[in-house]
Amino acid sequence: MLSMTNEEVKKAAAFFTREIEKLASGRSLRLMEVCGTHTVSIFKSGIRQLLPENVELVSGPGCPVCVTPNEYLDTAIAYSRKSDVMITTFGDMLKVPGSSSTLAKEKAQGSDIRIVYSSLEALEFAAKNPDKKVIFLAVGFETTAPTAAAAILMADETHLTNFYVLSAHKLVPPALRALLASGKSHVDGFLLPGHVSAIIGLQPYDFLSKEYHIPGVVAGFEPLDILQAVYMLLLQIHDQTARLENQYSRIVPKEGNPSACRILSQVYQQSDAVWRGLGKIPNSGMSIREKYQAFDALLNIPIIVEETKEASQCQCGKVLRGLLQPSNCLLFGKACRPEHPIGSCMVSVEGTCAAWYKYGAGRWQV
Ligand code: SF4
Repeated sequence: MLSMTNEEVKKAAAFFTREIEKLASGRSLRLMEVCGTHTVSIFKSGIRQLLPENVELVSGPGCPVCVTPNEYLDTAIAYSRKSDVMITTFGDMLKVPGSSSTLAKEKAQGSDIRIVYSSLEALEFAAKNPDKKVIFLAVGFETTAPTAAAAILMADETHLTNFYVLSAHKLVPPALRALLASGKSHVDGFLLPGHVSAIIGLQPYDFLSKEYHIPGVVAGFEPLDILQAVYMLLLQIHDQTARLENQYSRIVPKEGNPSACRILSQVYQQSDAVWRGLGKIPNSGMSIREKYQAFDALLNIPIIVEETKEASQCQCGKVLRGLLQPSNCLLFGKACRPEHPIGSCMVSVEGTCAAWYKYGAGRWQV
């Protein structure tokens, strides 16, 4: 697609839009885009407006910051209050409300919190600040987890004794299984995440078609990729079949990235994890293996964490399960806005509520 001219892109987009309309005619369909990057691309490019009204796109649990539960934030906040601790984190995490504070508020009150763009940067902070316990807030899916694992391996090799990871890494396929097993999130097809799939390959999604008879298409992030993936889903639905297809084969190999998977399983083991909105999902998290436990913040730095409370009226849990569109939350655009977020879905650039707020003009009224 990168080699297509503008004219060719327009022609292809017109073709997919026309065919989608024909294939969807006479039925109401709900497709879930699992990845937050898809959500943003869909809004930015106006794909929602291009699709017929009877094809509804709902967002799933694919924004890493959004699915991180309050309990994790409360723990990070408690750590940030310790004078010998430095917190290193991606910027998105700063404004996410915990039960009674945010990392941004703690930073304003003097906590040592540094924004980093990768786990390796956190490692540098540890090397330069031997008097501090440097904790990296490891949030994300299969895409970011390998770099955190690599940072742990590097810390081990270089004998860094003040680098720790507070792991909230999560695995996407078990969350999709939990969504479907709950029986509440009715979805006719999945747009599967390109970046995650580039690491894990296609096999972990086999259960979608085999056990639930739901079509899935791994999709790229350009608007034309997404339109083509929607078209591919609709062709399957029209033919009453369910397969796993790969629209993004230029980046996603069928077998994924074996070296990244090797690093992941060397450092992490699958464990149960709590997701905002979805609760505890078996084998959906990654905890640090015994061999590398010296780098596990929770096991090495004692902490007392406040009792977790959820913001009243925040409906992030439902938004993350595709049960509610953001504009149907009573707080959307009123008490809850990007400059004053009540829930995590309004904080992250990949959050559904933030995307609706920023790009949703014409589809909602405040
Ligand atoms: S609009 Fe705000 S309060 Fe409502 S679900 Fe979204 S983030 Fe939560």
